[in-house]
Amino acid sequence: MFEAVVVGAGMARFVATHRLLEAGVQVQCFEPRARIGGRAHAGTLRA
Ligand SMILES: Cc1cc2nc3c(=O)[nH]c(=O)nc-3n(C[C@H](O)[C@H](O)[C@H](O)COP(=O)(O)OP(=O)(O)OC[C@H]3O[C@@H](n4cnc5c(N)ncnc54)[C@H](O)[C@@H]3O)c2cc1C
Repeated sequence: MFEAVVVGAGMARFVATHRLLEAGVQVQCFEPRARIGGRAHAGTLRA
């Protein structure tokens, strides 16, 4: 049983999930995409 549910793993809710875990809260985070980060996306540029 989870104590909190976070819908989406964009930057804001990913950080919220991390903070909740740090505080010892059992949290479930739902993200429909295959990666976290939402609109923020880091990648490697190739020359
Ligand atoms: C072109 C562009 C350039 C930017 N440049 C900068 C910059 O230089 N510096 C900066 O600080 N910010 C920048 N931003 C803003 C930054 O990307 C956003 O402020 C930030 O990513 C928003 O994070 P968020 O977690 O609020 O939302 P999002 O990143 O939008 O994340 C929302 C997440 O929720 C998920 N989701 C949506 N609906 C559902 C659902 N029904 N169920 C489950 N999951 C769901 C999505 O898949 C997504 O992963 C830029 C934005 C854009 C578009």
